[in-house]
Amino acid sequence: MKRSVLLLGCTGSIGTQTVDVIRYHADRFSVVGLSCKSDVETLYAQANELRPRYVAVETPLDPGRLPQGTEIFTGADAAERLAKASDADVTVLAISGYAALRPLLAAIKHGKRIAIANKESLVCGGRLVDAALALYGAELLPIDSEQSAIFQALQNGRRNEVKSLILTASGGPFFRKTRGELKNVSLADALNHPTWKMGRKITLDSATLFNKGLEIIEASRLFHFDAEHISVLIHPQSIVHSMVEYRDGTVMANMSKPDMRLPIQYALTYPERTESPCEPLKLDLTHPLEFYPADPERFHAIRMAYDALRADGIMPTVYNGANERAAEAYFAGRIGFIDIEDCVDAALNAIENRPADTIETIAAADKAARYAVDRFLAGRKQ
Ligand code: MG
Repeated sequence: MKRSVLLLGCTGSIGTQTVDVIRYHADRFSVVGLSCKSDVETLYAQANELRPRYVAVETPLDPGRLPQGTEIFTGADAAERLAKASDADVTVLAISGYAALRPLLAAIKHGKRIAIANKESLVCGGRLVDAALALYGAELLPIDSEQSAIFQALQNGRRNEVKSLILTASGGPFFRKTRGELKNVSLADALNHPTWKMGRKITLDSATLFNKGLEIIEASRLFHFDAEHISVLIHPQSIVHSMVEYRDGTVMANMSKPDMRLPIQYALTYPERTESPCEPLKLDLTHPLEFYPADPERFHAIRMAYDALRADGIMPTVYNGANERAAEAYFAGRIGFIDIEDCVDAALNAIENRPADTIETIAAADKAARYAVDRFLAGRKQ
């Protein structure tokens, strides 16, 4: 029997690559629902090809362009209501940003598999997500390439045999630049990632290293290791997607060409492995693999992520919300590249920590972080 898939965030980079994987394995998977924010043209095309029972979109759409009988959700909470209504075998969570938290909590209640590409919901949701997973018996499988690599490498030993999780980072386009040189980088430079083709926000986060900061916290949420057991290595080639070091000194690394369809497929087919549409990796000596330390004193986004993770409570939410707000300001041309760090630093300093035990507390912390960034930027103008 085919497994039914609900795809939340169907028109973005992960969403469209998930559709690719489903197309390649049309004999294994069917799509029961699609959601997106506002790209209705892509949604119409996907819906007419995949014939889902449901679609959800935040903006208005033309029902006449969807297959007859499609059930439609619209409005700001459309994805969350779709996640509640659908009882798919697998929910792929590919919505970007903090906005994925409520749909994630809704999907968990079905007690099925969630293949998660969104890291912000884990960073902010923390124990709330853990408690819901335990209560409803849902299974969470990572799509983020680093977390998928760690998930796979962890299958080679017992938990108490693990010494550390080693996240790799490409370093983004500016890895070799000095802080002085970073002052003048353009938006086009920041969006020119050397190894991965991704959405705009995550590409910026890769350049600022906030993506790696979020992944440090994400790894802690997914695998339940503390800050002292998670490290980062810069690996510009993006061939080794992450590693697990065991107590005997063995390091298990996960390697492939950088192609998100591979971790997407594994999260869908796990525990099975099967043929994929991805190009196989051919290792040869003309393409050396390099590794460099990621100095937290140079990469402030990484240092602040460790601080937020150690503080826990609402601080990871503040870290994320401030970064989302600063990224918006950067895309709008209101601040420079290097200012993003200062915005997040200001928010982390302005907001007092408290336990993140309800969705309301987390939502308030997210809002406060964005407001703190706005106040910081307004204060700086004077
Ligand atoms: Mg990643």
